[in-house]
Amino acid sequence: MSNAQVDVSEIHWLMDMFQTVDVGLVVLNCDYRIQVWNGFMENHSGLTPRQVRDKYLFDLFPEIDEDWLRRKCDPVMLLKNRAFTIWEQRPYIFKFKNYRPITGSADYMYQNSTIFPITDSRGNVTHLCFIIYDMTDAAVSALELASMNGRLRQLSKIDFLTQLSNRGHWEDGLKQEFTRLQRYSQHISTLLMCDIDHFKRVNDTYGHAAGDAVIKAVSAVISSSLRSTDLAGRYGGEEFAVLLVDTTLEQANYLAERLRSKVEKLLIPYNEQQLKVTISLGLAQRDQHMQYHTNWIEAADKALYQSKVDGRNKVSCFVPESEA
Ligand code: GH3
Ligand code: MG
Ligand code: MG
Repeated sequence: MSNAQVDVSEIHWLMDMFQTVDVGLVVLNCDYRIQVWNGFMENHSGLTPRQVRDKYLFDLFPEIDEDWLRRKCDPVMLLKNRAFTIWEQRPYIFKFKNYRPITGSADYMYQNSTIFPITDSRGNVTHLCFIIYDMTDAAVSALELASMNGRLRQLSKIDFLTQLSNRGHWEDGLKQEFTRLQRYSQHISTLLMCDIDHFKRVNDTYGHAAGDAVIKAVSAVISSSLRSTDLAGRYGGEEFAVLLVDTTLEQANYLAERLRSKVEKLLIPYNEQQLKVTISLGLAQRDQHMQYHTNWIEAADKALYQSKVDGRNKVSCFVPESEA
């Protein structure tokens, strides 16, 4: 075989590789006109090399942010650096539809890219070469994982039945507020605890599902009666706790009385029946003698117990021993 024949066959298989390789290869001249367009680019854009030849990139793909891409390419031309784009920063350069069956949830192909300079024999940059990598599989997995993590974080804070904060998350909020109040002693916040009266009877008479419906209905009354700064949580089975931020005992008493009265009037539909319940409430304003946030909970719980002792369907306030 002559040298010329070897060269021709080498070019032939190089061209073959260039056409079939599973990355996009694009060469632009310094005026951003397309010179080279491989099989990957043809397959995903539907445009043949002939159709794109000498076309101005930003005319052919108006969705490309020209300023952004020029800023990326300037150092490649001037300093002969390489530049990179990653899907986390910008999902793609070329907006191609995603046809992959497994990652079908993505509408378009996520892309990373490398941009490097092509120089002539004197070392002057004459062209830019883009390598486009299809990152859709990795991107979809990463995005799904991030969204699952967000959902799990949410689930770990929210009580499923009532959609209120669960006990752990609620208590974290209380701890934070307790610390804030220790620092800013002129601020006043009040803790409200409440418990459904004779709830066992509901379960025993109508069944557990009816009990759940009652818990849901009572928690909905609580949620709809609060300000956005208040933090309501499901403290136990049929016990709720509400941190009333920047609220005095007197103001809290007014709110508690309203809650008590709303629940008393509530008709909870369950299997053709209308169930009725009442709640008992306890209030405690944070005072300086409380050393830990748990002392605050104990105080509100004590007041709640007092409401039970006094006959239920009542609101009681904690009185510190120094004032009793
Ligand atoms: P009191 O007026 O003294 O509060 O009486 P009570 O019957 O409400 O007494 P207690 O607080 O001891 O009873 C709570 C009951 O709530 C016990 C438990 O079986 C039930 N319970 C706890 N969690 C749930 C739940 O998620 N769903 C239902 N249906 N019942 C629950
Ligand atoms: Mg109860
Ligand atoms: Mg209880």
